[in-house]
Amino acid sequence: MKITRIPRIRDQHKKRVAAYCRVSTTLDEQEESYEAQLSYYTRLIQAHDDWDFAGVYSDEKSGVKASNRPGFQRLIKDALNGKVDYILVKSISRFSRNIVDCQKYANLLHGNGVDIHFDKENLDTAEPSCSMMFSFLSAIAQDESRSISENVRWGYRERFKRGEYNLGNNRILGYDCVDGKLVPNQDADAVRMIFQMYIEGKSIEEIRRLLTDYGIRTKKGQPLAHNNIMYILQNETYMGDKLLQKQPPKNFLTKKPDERAPYESNYLENDHEAIVDRKTWDTVQEIMRQKKAVTAAVGRIGGRPHFLYGKLFCGECGEPMTRRTLNGPKGIKHKVWTCRGRHEGRKGNGCKLRTIKEDLLLQTIEESIGCEVNAENAGQIQRVVITEEDIAVETT
Ligand SMILES: [Zn+2]
Repeated sequence: MKITRIPRIRDQHKKRVAAYCRVSTTLDEQEESYEAQLSYYTRLIQAHDDWDFAGVYSDEKSGVKASNRPGFQRLIKDALNGKVDYILVKSISRFSRNIVDCQKYANLLHGNGVDIHFDKENLDTAEPSCSMMFSFLSAIAQDESRSISENVRWGYRERFKRGEYNLGNNRILGYDCVDGKLVPNQDADAVRMIFQMYIEGKSIEEIRRLLTDYGIRTKKGQPLAHNNIMYILQNETYMGDKLLQKQPPKNFLTKKPDERAPYESNYLENDHEAIVDRKTWDTVQEIMRQKKAVTAAVGRIGGRPHFLYGKLFCGECGEPMTRRTLNGPKGIKHKVWTCRGRHEGRKGNGCKLRTIKEDLLLQTIEESIGCEVNAENAGQIQRVVITEEDIAVETT
């Protein structure tokens, strides 16, 4: 076995540092003018030998929503596109309208190897303690409005406890809601067919095409999508049970389910007439579990895995590298590889290895093996270990 080490190409440049500020256009706030802040940040950045000035991005003070802040949007785009490595901001409140928003953008950028320094709070997203600080700050911010939404939730919970539920828009394929009870309708056969086809080994995509050919539609009259079929196959309603309050209550700021909020689920067994028997339902869940395990091992969902999958490893923490698509400006997408330890949120290990662009990675490997690398000849590559300093290619 031969191991070749080649320095990482993207690490040869200095850290490109940009600043973001909100500028005042009124005369009595001269120190907040664009010119004043531009010269302040230019001097600050040039004072560091290992920093390159990547620009000052700014918006006028009045714009509140992120979508109304063209300078901010441009900064995020440039940062995701690899033009900026580090961002200086005066404070959290200058960066975003609230802490949840701030955390969202900070996580997005940090996940792409770009960190932010908040001067006033003395917070740096490069430091592991930062995400804890964010959670703490957002908990305080949410506390005030929490009591209001808790009262509303309480009413729902009491009704769930009594076994009363609201079917929403009555969207469950195969059932009608009659006097508050679920009753199978003419679409029940379609549901049975979906479970049967899946057990026979058909893929979700094949099932989707067949259902479309048979003219089966959702309750809203649309052809069934991949997600609809997945949802049906995992919905306990079809074996006669009912799980109430499936998701945690929504966070009133993010409008997304709040995993940390306390909530109760009530599981009603034999609540209504089943469409598929328990054995069928259990079989489907087991097949699904097995398929998921296989997918996890290969490292990719759907389609064929990339020819480098399973060969790329992070030299900092040992986790495999995974492939992602980043959206650049003008709809240009590019492929990057990132350490899995970094990107799976709570499951990650906080690994700091920077994202590497696929074209640079391939270029390095090609320099190492002396020819183009593709799906046909990738067999000669045993293992590629990526660290901040270099890329080590092990060939057979
Ligand atoms: Zn790692």
